[in-house]
Amino acid sequence: MDRWDWMAVRAYVPTAGLLLAALVSTGVLTRLQASPLLAGLVSGGKWLPVLLLTAAVVHFAWVTYRLCQADKGKGLLCGCGGLLGHERAGRASRGGAYRRCYACGRNINHHRYE
Ligand SMILES: [Zn+2]
Repeated sequence: MDRWDWMAVRAYVPTAGLLLAALVSTGVLTRLQASPLLAGLVSGGKWLPVLLLTAAVVHFAWVTYRLCQADKGKGLLCGCGGLLGHERAGRASRGGAYRRCYACGRNINHHRYE
């Protein structure tokens, strides 16, 4: 895999996390349902896997869209052409908020991509 493949993998990590959370919550709810004492807890939480799955689908579509846009050179991109990740708080003395490039790993300051 080259660095562009790794960039896509890094961009999809939160999607995988949401899918995993949906699977785990489904497993937990199924076990709670089997217990007569805890079955009451299930009714409120039964929407959790559905919400997590929906969030995963939405995130997957969003990342796919951004990767397609990056392919055309559009969107929030690093100087190397890589996709920039979510905004992180940075020290004001070092330029403030920044985003990390999914391809080269460099931190790009806010004023450099606007
Ligand atoms: Zn880069």
